[in-house]
Amino acid sequence: MYGKLISFILPSFNEEENIPLIFESVHQDTSHLYYEYEFIFIDDGSSDQTLAAIQDLANEHQHVKYISFTRNFGKEAALLAGLQKARGDAVIVLDADMQHPSYLIPEMLEGYEEGYDQVVACRNRDGESTTRKTLSTLYYKFVNKLVDVKLKNGVGDFRLLSRSVVNDILKLSEGNRFSKGLFSWVGYEEKIIHYDNISRNAGDSKWSFGKLLNYAIDGLVSFNTKPLRICLYVGLLILMLSLSYITFIFVEIIRNGIEVPGYFSVISSILFLGGVQLVSLGVIGEYIGRIYNEVKGRPHYLIKETNVHESQNQITQQ
Ligand code: UDP
Ligand code: MG
Repeated sequence: MYGKLISFILPSFNEEENIPLIFESVHQDTSHLYYEYEFIFIDDGSSDQTLAAIQDLANEHQHVKYISFTRNFGKEAALLAGLQKARGDAVIVLDADMQHPSYLIPEMLEGYEEGYDQVVACRNRDGESTTRKTLSTLYYKFVNKLVDVKLKNGVGDFRLLSRSVVNDILKLSEGNRFSKGLFSWVGYEEKIIHYDNISRNAGDSKWSFGKLLNYAIDGLVSFNTKPLRICLYVGLLILMLSLSYITFIFVEIIRNGIEVPGYFSVISSILFLGGVQLVSLGVIGEYIGRIYNEVKGRPHYLIKETNVHESQNQITQQ
């Protein structure tokens, strides 16, 4: 007699030291439960010994699977590959760097047994710099006003998804993936579990400020075209303001004649309008870039090596 199958998906990019640790830690926290498990490590084009570390595990444990990309395709692509290959009745996504505490997994599974389709771990932001904390709070406030899906501060990719959720997420084929938004977009009832922030074990975070900024913009523009509309409104407003200003000056000139050559007003309005135009062009460009990417329809990732075979995979699709 076996229980349900639970798949762990672990995107791993240069995590050679963490691979054995995370495996051991998840194994310890879950082995006493009445489930079957499979581990799917995605080596996202690591330049260190991550793949070798995963292969060592796979040789020892036959429920360890791996997919190795030809290069670094990013965490979103790794996550997608994992979801596509997972066969479990439920899937748990967690980082390989030990920042997602595996002791929460039994609680997540309890939530799953209670009938929740998504069980989400939410971390507090203790230990992060105040700037990062404030910025993220502001960002989430702003995003939630603007976009149609709800994003929660502190909620990351550490979560359990039922088979139905995974199947639905796989139906979304967009090239620019913003998983946090997609998880929320598919709906279903969510249970939230809170935990304390942990700093990363070995290695460095792959998020620089620039990458975070890009991620923030993806979150904004992935879900609707409201920013385009805002540009339009701002543009209209400024147009009206400048028209009234021009009329005002025109009337003044007719009444009193030209007094001072208006260097300041000319230069400031040119600069201001130039700025507004650039912002609007940028936003439009964002969307055109997205259309371009979607139209190309390129695969999200390419696999160099894997021990997951298609025939195994088809069993799940039924
Ligand atoms: N990761 C990945 N591909 C990347 C960047 C990161 O698979 O291009 C993995 C990484 O190995 C880790 C997880 O995604 O398991 C989270 O990455 P990181 O720790 O850098 O992010 P943070 O915890 O700082 O948000
Ligand atoms: Mg991390």
